[in-house]
Amino acid sequence: MSTAQVADLQERTRITVSLERNPYDVIIGRSMVGEIGAALAELPIRSGTKILVVSNPDVAGPYGDSCLGGLRAAGFNPVLLEIDAGEERKTLQTLSLILDKAQQEGLERTSLMLALGGGVVGDMTGFAAACWLRGIGIVQVPTTLLSMVDASIGGKTGVNHPKGKNLIGAFHQPRLVVIDPLTLNTLPIREFRAGMAEVIKYGVIGDPDLFSRLEEATDLSDPVAMDPTLLHDILVLSAEAKALVVADDEREGGRRAILNYGHTFGHVVETLTGYGTWLHGEAVAIGMAAVGRLAVQKGLWSEADQQRQLKLIEKAGLPVAWPALDREAALRTLQGDKKVRHGRLRFVLPTKIGNVIISDEISNEDVNRCLESLN
Ligand code: NAD
Ligand code: MG
Repeated sequence: MSTAQVADLQERTRITVSLERNPYDVIIGRSMVGEIGAALAELPIRSGTKILVVSNPDVAGPYGDSCLGGLRAAGFNPVLLEIDAGEERKTLQTLSLILDKAQQEGLERTSLMLALGGGVVGDMTGFAAACWLRGIGIVQVPTTLLSMVDASIGGKTGVNHPKGKNLIGAFHQPRLVVIDPLTLNTLPIREFRAGMAEVIKYGVIGDPDLFSRLEEATDLSDPVAMDPTLLHDILVLSAEAKALVVADDEREGGRRAILNYGHTFGHVVETLTGYGTWLHGEAVAIGMAAVGRLAVQKGLWSEADQQRQLKLIEKAGLPVAWPALDREAALRTLQGDKKVRHGRLRFVLPTKIGNVIISDEISNEDVNRCLESLN
């Protein structure tokens, strides 16, 4: 391996999420998990600060020692809490376990929590940090592709209610986000691919260059087989895309809604096939394919662009085919979706690779016609 390649592999990129109050950085680089302490030491955080590291066995197993070791080496005082972190455990009960540990460890206003894991760990730990003493600092260290490019950036935290996902939560922006692509090497491949759906989404909604990079890649479905520079660039471009939209619209009044591209139909798939059949990203992949069809039918985007989108989704090892769902039930689910505004269906529709519009001009007949053509 040449020196240039070695240098490339050690590349670090820093992206700033430019919020008016409390902007923060996202640092992306291989082996960063062991260097979180050094990154934190650049912030105004006292040496000796107690840090409650929340993780789950899948992640603490391979990365816990390196994370805690790095924090200790930088003069911090970390303690580890391992929780069960399946989606079904994203509950107030698990939140309570984190808060109990915070109490036992005597976490103060200046202490930190650090989420080392996927979106479930990140959302719960972020919410615990928002609640503890009315809010202490949270550091996000995402270890799934989905949480690297989406969940860890933007400050949405929370847990599920028995009657619905993410019904309980708070906005609580992190102090720092640290992304280490090497952690993806242990992620189940299906989870990696599901995260790639959100990456493709960023391409379609605002970044034609990212979309082209993905099209040119020889492999998109396996982090170990992927060119490390490409993976690094994908993480950077995606994190930038999320950071930009978040900085533009911190609390999702307007522009942040474009992040829901593919999610309206995706939500129908998740709801009607039962959560657990498709991973979220897989449902989003199907949802992007479906809303792309709707946009073609409305004359908003070309069949050629729709074909490019379909091809890329399939290349990432993701599904595109609309499952056999009851059409009435699909419409009912859409009507009940929180993305309905003033009784009208609200869709994020593509117009070209790299641009979408938000429309409430889509009628039930339009949706029906689209679903008919998909089945
Ligand atoms: P996840 O957190 O459920 O993780 C998926 C699986 O991968 C888990 O079994 C986990 O233990 C395992 N895992 C994680 N990292 C690993 C690694 N490096 N090696 C081996 N195994 C690993 O899934 P996710 O897709 O990251 O997150 C989904 C959650 O994120 C949902 O609850 C969703 O609501 C939330 N979310 C939040 C936001 C937000 O803005 N806050 C955005 C999108 C999604
Ligand atoms: Mg999503």
